[in-house]
Amino acid sequence: MGTFSKLCDLIMEASASNYTAKRTNTINKATPHHVAGCLTAEQIARIFQNPNRKASANYGIGIDGKIVGIVPEESRAWTSSSPSNDHQAITIEVANDQVGGEWHISDLCIERLIDLIVEIRLRTKREVYVYDGTPNGTMTRHNMFAATTCPGSYLQGKLPYITEEINKRIKEGIAPVEVPTVQAPTKRNVGEEVTVTGIYVASNSTKRLNPARTKGKITKIIAGAKNPYLLDNGNLGWTNDGCIVDSAITAPTTNTSVTTYTVKSGDCLSEIGAKLGVNWKEIASLNGIHSPYTIYKGQKLKIPTATAAPAKTNLKSNEQICKEVWQGKWGNGGDRAYRLTQAGYDANLIQSMVNKGIGR
Ligand SMILES: [Zn+2]
Repeated sequence: MGTFSKLCDLIMEASASNYTAKRTNTINKATPHHVAGCLTAEQIARIFQNPNRKASANYGIGIDGKIVGIVPEESRAWTSSSPSNDHQAITIEVANDQVGGEWHISDLCIERLIDLIVEIRLRTKREVYVYDGTPNGTMTRHNMFAATTCPGSYLQGKLPYITEEINKRIKEGIAPVEVPTVQAPTKRNVGEEVTVTGIYVASNSTKRLNPARTKGKITKIIAGAKNPYLLDNGNLGWTNDGCIVDSAITAPTTNTSVTTYTVKSGDCLSEIGAKLGVNWKEIASLNGIHSPYTIYKGQKLKIPTATAAPAKTNLKSNEQICKEVWQGKWGNGGDRAYRLTQAGYDANLIQSMVNKGIGR
């Protein structure tokens, strides 16, 4: 079997009497067609298995959104009424979701078309496409070569957008991987008081606990985590920007004493701030560092000494408390909620964890 895109959902090769086994040019163009029918990927491929059809395409995209491999990429499909074009092109038959009129094509099929062409391009030529409305471009149409309605007015009208979108993704795909010196700072800062509607059991957990709205202070930030903010609301839990409904920045530290921190490889300001419990923007301003906040290894940073009270550290973990609830150590109902609250725990949070069987 020849080469087909890894995006194919199925491979149903055309009859060998419907295409030329070896293309004479390298792949340089893409030519999207419409099938003029509401066909699934399988139905499209079946057409070209009939040896009398004398037509084919490299790929088909069905109304079901599936991509079918039909003519291997090494071979020249008979699709666009132009040997010269098809020896250079990957040709793709796309299903309509409406027959006649503008020959509409679903957004799903357009998306799959873009995905497919990008995948092929990044594997082969690694260059953007040119759609200039002429056969000289690298994005071409059937009706440039024959009197046909193909690719239909809808797909034809979409081609500038499709080409632009494909090129955007190709550029991203061939861009050298940059090693960021500074991680994008998260939206919030250590020390910020926030009101949230959701708390998670861990920084990367999707397991959401649903306490009533609760207020707390951000005590630590792990940039890049699903729930980057460690919230202390008398208890600890993780939250994210989507859960934060309100915030207030606490007064900046007034203490003028400073300590020094030496930047290590891979450090960024927001992480250093999180690690030291200091708003990273204060570190930036104290050291005269401005956007894009570049720092370098070995740099000595002045760190404002936080005056905020240290976070409570004497509380047990939520999980431990759940265990104790199951052991009967915290009583029941309103009594339990009262005792938990008095001891500095979030009774709603603990209850929702217990309800999930945590600590059992
Ligand atoms: Zn066509």
